[in-house]
Amino acid sequence: MSKVLQIGCGGVGTVAAHKLAQNADIFSDIMIASRTKSKCDALAGVLEKTYGIKVATAAVDADDVEALTRLMKEFQPELVINLALPYQDLTIMEACLNAGCSYLDTANYEPKDEAHFEYSWQWAYKKRFEEAGLTAILGCGFDPGVSGIFTAYAAKHHFDEIHTLDIVDCNAGNHHKAFATNFNPEINIREITQKGLYYKDGEWIETEPLEIHQPITYPNIGPRESYLMHHEELESLVKNFPTIRQGRFWMTFGQQYLTYLDVIQNIGMSRIDEIEYEAPLSDSSGKNVKVKIVPLQFLKAVLPNPQDLGENYDGETSIGCRIRGIKDGKEQTYYVYNNCSHQAAYQETGMQGVSYTTGVPAMIGAMMYFKGLWKRPGVWNVEEFDPDPFMEQLNKQGLPWHEEFGKDLEL
Ligand code: NDP
Repeated sequence: MSKVLQIGCGGVGTVAAHKLAQNADIFSDIMIASRTKSKCDALAGVLEKTYGIKVATAAVDADDVEALTRLMKEFQPELVINLALPYQDLTIMEACLNAGCSYLDTANYEPKDEAHFEYSWQWAYKKRFEEAGLTAILGCGFDPGVSGIFTAYAAKHHFDEIHTLDIVDCNAGNHHKAFATNFNPEINIREITQKGLYYKDGEWIETEPLEIHQPITYPNIGPRESYLMHHEELESLVKNFPTIRQGRFWMTFGQQYLTYLDVIQNIGMSRIDEIEYEAPLSDSSGKNVKVKIVPLQFLKAVLPNPQDLGENYDGETSIGCRIRGIKDGKEQTYYVYNNCSHQAAYQETGMQGVSYTTGVPAMIGAMMYFKGLWKRPGVWNVEEFDPDPFMEQLNKQGLPWHEEFGKDLEL
């Protein structure tokens, strides 16, 4: 029996659930739980119709450790896949320890009231997971996730020392909306509007948001302006591969997206602090009531839902690692990447490519755990496990990868 509990039923959760159901020989018993149970029920209906698989569902508030613990003790999963929001990482990890479940996620913890992410909060759980004999696998989406596995694969097979690592993430898709984000708008806008950060010669160097940019050529896509950003996997990768002298992360944005983002920031709609708003609801004295709202959460409520973008999304994503280093005394360059078509992702799962490239690796990580290949008490980033069986599954599960040697890395 491989019992798995998936928490979160958004874009990424929908893809992961399809993939769990497609691999029912490994995942014998699946429950999907989220804040809104009706969404879990609707997805369970699709899975039953498409794959003939029955999936249990439940409502749970993932901010509430007691409620989570109760659900886990009732269902008794061996592994919990966290596909809710980064705010819930620590409560879900606590509940896993209470109920004796292993843990996997795709994004590192972020406090709600501060747009800041780092691994220290989750790494602090290492001893407790070790002592409980439970495994926690951190950051198992695409980036973080496959970006770390690509790096581990390069280090294992193609380099004696990695010197520079550039993770390059291009979305060359078009959803035909004026402005929309590809995953949870609140998390996405918080990430993009914060300062840039990269690693060089043992130090972290901060930049203004999106200050450094240059065109990078992506396979099958061509040149796209790419912006240096702070991204969480750099923190663990430079620690786990200490020969890295420079580690950077680049993401493409179109000019229209950046113009909208600029306006959103300048008019205060990306603020994450509470403001008082006089709501047109009257209290018993007939006066308008003052309510507190967070502008960015309000904006999320009026923006297109990333889950609804798939149908008209064309084009593809291209994400990979460009690496320079030494093999057998000689300088070597290596580029490993995946391209993913938004339409193909939509045809298979009803979701666009960004959700697909995250949900598939989450399922593969769970598969690695249940096969006993990635089962080790403690808290681990994905690059600390053997990359080979994961790379093999990427090719089988819809995210085939390609490699190029001796290429001009442009960076
Ligand atoms: P969505 O907003 O589409 O989905 C989030 C889901 O979590 C929804 O089902 C939501 O429920 C649920 N949820 C939110 N809060 C709670 C709560 N308190 N209790 C229970 N359920 C809750 O987000 P995405 O699917 O786009 O993203 C999911 C995760 O994947 C995020 O952590 C994101 O950062 C990460 N991600 C990682 C990437 C990577 O490559 N590593 C790339 C893209 C995303 P409801 O429907 O009620 O709102």
